[in-house]
Amino acid sequence: MALQSINPATGEKLAEFEAWDQERLDLAIRRANAEFLEWSQRTSLATRCELIKNAGKILRAQQDELAKLITLEMGKSINEAKAEIEKSAWVCDFYAEHGPKFLADEPIATDASKSYICYQPLGLVLAVMPWNFPFWQVFRFAAPALIAGNIGLLKHASNVPQCAQAIERIFIEAGLPASVFTNLMIGSDKVESVIRSRYVRAVTLTGSEPAGRKVAAIAGEELKKTVLELGGSDAFIVMSDADIPAAVEAAVTSRYLNMGQSCIAAKRFIVDTFIYEDFITRLKTAVESRFVEGDPLDPATTLCPMARQDLLDELHQQVQTCVDYGARLVTGGYQLDRPGCYYAPTILADISSAMPAYHEEFFGPVALIFKASEPAHAVGLANATQFGLGGSVWSSDGATAETMALRMESGACFVNGMTKSDPRLPFGGVKNSGYGRELSYHGIREFTNIKSIWIK
Ligand code: NAP
Repeated sequence: MALQSINPATGEKLAEFEAWDQERLDLAIRRANAEFLEWSQRTSLATRCELIKNAGKILRAQQDELAKLITLEMGKSINEAKAEIEKSAWVCDFYAEHGPKFLADEPIATDASKSYICYQPLGLVLAVMPWNFPFWQVFRFAAPALIAGNIGLLKHASNVPQCAQAIERIFIEAGLPASVFTNLMIGSDKVESVIRSRYVRAVTLTGSEPAGRKVAAIAGEELKKTVLELGGSDAFIVMSDADIPAAVEAAVTSRYLNMGQSCIAAKRFIVDTFIYEDFITRLKTAVESRFVEGDPLDPATTLCPMARQDLLDELHQQVQTCVDYGARLVTGGYQLDRPGCYYAPTILADISSAMPAYHEEFFGPVALIFKASEPAHAVGLANATQFGLGGSVWSSDGATAETMALRMESGACFVNGMTKSDPRLPFGGVKNSGYGRELSYHGIREFTNIKSIWIK
């Protein structure tokens, strides 16, 4: 099996890599395991922080070429790719600065003369990662996990093998010993054998719900810890007293960033009856005037390709089904007539619970609009999904908006702001969006043994 790097803007094959056979894979895992004691016990926490900080410096120094690699492999705009590299450097800085505090022993008063909690690394952690933020997702896992003393094994999405290689190279250039972070050049067919390896202690997966279920089932059999960051269908609730221009602006950014291929994109717009048509008209105007199609390497381009043709086809099928069930196609709904995987920014209104769309994640540039009669109805619609990743509420009534945010079944909810990840805040989901947390002090402790020490 070969892993192919294909430019979604042109369809051109950029590179191809032969996937590793079992022997090569086993060797890489054994080498990684051999590094664990040296890295976790003989390398000080201060040194580990310094090396991760170096990785951040390299990201910034090589920002232009790394961003270009992202754009070529998965199609996002060069401006967004540069921002992704900067954010990846930020998470390195964040954990290099705060990691020691997050991992410090915590004295606890008990009947002992001395008792405390300490945070010790688990060992080898497999990270199964998606292509949509091919650097950020990996660094979000790796910076805290490696600082905590773990060893990282990366199984990146098959369509971004060059990004995966570049990330491994960055850690080596930063001064980390070669086997502390290894890019496993494998397809998803080999993931099971890695999870079952006796050297691997835990798995994190960022990706779709079906992939999460498969990986968690195997890890469950092996009694290995998992963190799952899965899909989302975030609600974006707009009440009649909201600042509508600000909400429309955020709606466009949140839904169409990365061509809609973001887990925490606003996907379901739940709009108060009173402003429903006005919101749709404004959103349509903004969407139709905002986007400029072109080469994603051109900084002026804002309508970029989706990452793969199969993903576009799947999305288009979802749109067509909605229309068949009576949804109103406000704008878009077609593939652009040009080479590459370009899909017109789309709005579908009048979504009802009878439509399959009501329950599905739309992983592309399609906004779904629902009508709500009052706050409780809006929250009910927001919660009527199996997902529970993020969400937002737009209203000038702060108290009501906060109550609504608290009632939403999600890992995060933003009031009068776009849902986004931030190293300072925990990130993760409830329900079928997964479990466990990344970022903040919660994230760095996920792959540690939270150990009690008691001395009489
Ligand atoms: P995906 O198809 O699930 O792929 C994600 C990763 O899982 C890839 O490395 C993939 O490998 C691997 N994989 C797929 N099936 C597998 C299996 N049966 N066993 C083991 N590994 C498997 O997801 P995607 O299309 O890349 O990403 C889109 C999804 O990810 C969306 O649902 C999105 O919401 C979610 N996501 C969630 C977050 C979050 O933080 N919660 C962030 C980003 C994306 P191959 O590429 O080799 O198939």
